[in-house]
Amino acid sequence: MKRTGPLSEVKGIGPKMAEKFNQMGLLTVGDLLGHTPLRYEDWSSPRPISEFSVSDNVVFRGTIEKAFHRRIFRKGLSMTEVRLRDETGIISLIWFNQPYVKYGFKEGDEIVGSGKVSIGKKNNLFISNPSYEIVREETVFGVMPIYRRVRGLSSKGIWTAVKKIIYSAEPAKEFIPEKILKLENIPDINECIRAVHVPSDMKEALRAKRRFAFENLFLIQLSSLIQKKQLLDMKGPMIVDDIDFAKELLSSVPFPLTFAQKRSLWEIMNDMKAGHPMNRLLQGDVGSGKTVVAALSAVMGAKQGFQAAIMAPTEILARQHYLTFKSLFGHLDIPFALVTGKETLVFYGKDLESSVKRKDILEDIRKGKIKIVIGTHSLISESKTGSIEFGKLGLVVVDEQHRFGVDQRGKIAQKSGLKDHLVPHFLSMSATPIPRTVAISMFGDLDLSLIDELPKERKPITTRVIPPEARERAYDFIREEIKKGRQAFIVCPRIEKNEDEEIFVARSSSDDIKTVTEEFRRLSQDIFPDLSVAMIHGKMKPEEKTAVMHDFHSGKKDILVATSVIEVGVDVRNASIMMIENADRFGLAQLYQFKGRVGRGPHASYCLLFSESSSENSLARLKAVAEAKNGFELAEKDLALRGPGEFLGGAQTGRPDLTMTALQDPEILKGSRRAAEEVVNGGIKLEEFAPLKEKLDIIQNKFHLE
Ligand code: ADP
Ligand code: MG
Repeated sequence: MKRTGPLSEVKGIGPKMAEKFNQMGLLTVGDLLGHTPLRYEDWSSPRPISEFSVSDNVVFRGTIEKAFHRRIFRKGLSMTEVRLRDETGIISLIWFNQPYVKYGFKEGDEIVGSGKVSIGKKNNLFISNPSYEIVREETVFGVMPIYRRVRGLSSKGIWTAVKKIIYSAEPAKEFIPEKILKLENIPDINECIRAVHVPSDMKEALRAKRRFAFENLFLIQLSSLIQKKQLLDMKGPMIVDDIDFAKELLSSVPFPLTFAQKRSLWEIMNDMKAGHPMNRLLQGDVGSGKTVVAALSAVMGAKQGFQAAIMAPTEILARQHYLTFKSLFGHLDIPFALVTGKETLVFYGKDLESSVKRKDILEDIRKGKIKIVIGTHSLISESKTGSIEFGKLGLVVVDEQHRFGVDQRGKIAQKSGLKDHLVPHFLSMSATPIPRTVAISMFGDLDLSLIDELPKERKPITTRVIPPEARERAYDFIREEIKKGRQAFIVCPRIEKNEDEEIFVARSSSDDIKTVTEEFRRLSQDIFPDLSVAMIHGKMKPEEKTAVMHDFHSGKKDILVATSVIEVGVDVRNASIMMIENADRFGLAQLYQFKGRVGRGPHASYCLLFSESSSENSLARLKAVAEAKNGFELAEKDLALRGPGEFLGGAQTGRPDLTMTALQDPEILKGSRRAAEEVVNGGIKLEEFAPLKEKLDIIQNKFHLE
């Protein structure tokens, strides 16, 4: 069986199941074998039912006392329930929409299985969609791999499919050089593939899994080191540091820069004069003043005739940056422009704003007359905006995107108008506080500047976790603030409910997920009929969103009910309240970003975290958000609380969970770094290791599409 063969052609998997795997991004035999279990369970030692409590992951063993099958006459939902008893107690096992489950159960059968304990509306404990086996005389239970469950595919289903291919698939090509395998004491790839899926004991399973954790970090770091080396071989525009102009510029800004801002600016200026393309990540909390630092860097370059492109994640933000430029640097003699999908504005310096035709503005950019161009990512992509050509592009600034690949930079370089193969400087800004250990290994090719203090004038944001019974009081408080002239954000996790989920959620947990549409209706009609409430979410048309934001900005609306669309960048100085519904459903980084939406003006500000959850871990996490002094401190705390995976939100790599967990393991971290350095510096030639080169290309592509 070929590793590149599609799963749909495997006997016993079939097109229907293959389709489900495809949806998980698993297309081939090799993909499925590379899909490692999340964790392992030892089914030879079940726990007594009487010891189960909510949210536990448990292994159970007991006898079926009763089995039911019910239809829920709505959208054809169905439910199978088994009452399971052991010597200590009884618990329900529940499956939704898996009618085939019912055929397997007979009263009196003994079953072994595992799952997560939930609590129902009547305080009854149950386990939904558990994995299980019926005990027959010959079955021996040992270490069971547990895979990430997806819609329509249980862990058991995945394991069964894996076992169909594992012994007949062609062997994988080893891509880690033998020298490294020896050095790091890692088993051969095929041994690891076998042991990770069908281990004979826990030790073997974990050792195999360690390899997969290791290999991803190794590839990421190797890729970073190679990029760093390539950049050192390239030439960048020399933007010398004009200290007098810098001083003049800083004294014209209406506030003193913080020490951290000055230090970052200094680091950037040093990079820009060094002769190689800068590749720097500017990290700092929301509101710490990153944009100003980037803008100052752009102006320094402009003074010497170099252009800068500044890219924001959204058009709204690009517009805000343009306005910031106007207020900070409008008096200078530096032309700058806003170019987005729908508008082009140009400011020809010395307070001369005009709406010249787009075509003419693009022409002035190509000629290098307009020095600073502000827009979204479409500035550098081939898009409906039309491809933008620059005349002398010295600096590219990107907001909230971590990295740019060497090839992407090559494309920008081609449009930069620079001669002699010069490659523009690159500055990435991020408010996602990443723990230092993680930053160093995931973004090893980037140099780091940290803005770890907020401007002095900023007031701390009072943050509170609000229990359900205090909801009314919180609403009263919001009304008082608004009567004082302030504004409030109310964030909900969802846009609208979907019906399936309604049924499932009502049964499986007591908290109900707030939606923007429903809360907007409730707040505007029932709670705050006297105030002006608006909503914004991702399903609205761009022009509707712009209109709503405009109304909120100008103070026409008091309350904005929103999804996480307001997470990045919105700057409304008059807003003093950020209220978050179902706060436990957001990642800590996201909560922290929301919090940063308020406290941007002179007013005392508040962040209210609502949660119906009673889980201790959820509350500890929310408390961490309330108490953290800055994002980096929070990131470290979160790393300790539950690992970096959740914080970064996954999707960074092919095997997010594994890589993220590995980041917590200093031994793997060090080992993979050592191995990457060994390849780059230790005379291992990539050209001689085609399989390794192939893997690197894949990982680099993944990053650049981010
Ligand atoms: P970030 O991009 O890091 O979220 P911004 O650069 O947008 O932050 O700055 C947020 C606000 O704070 C802006 O209105 C900016 O003008 C202001 N600001 C920036 N630096 C300072 C400072 N050192 N002192 C006072 N206000 C500042
Ligand atoms: Mg910003």
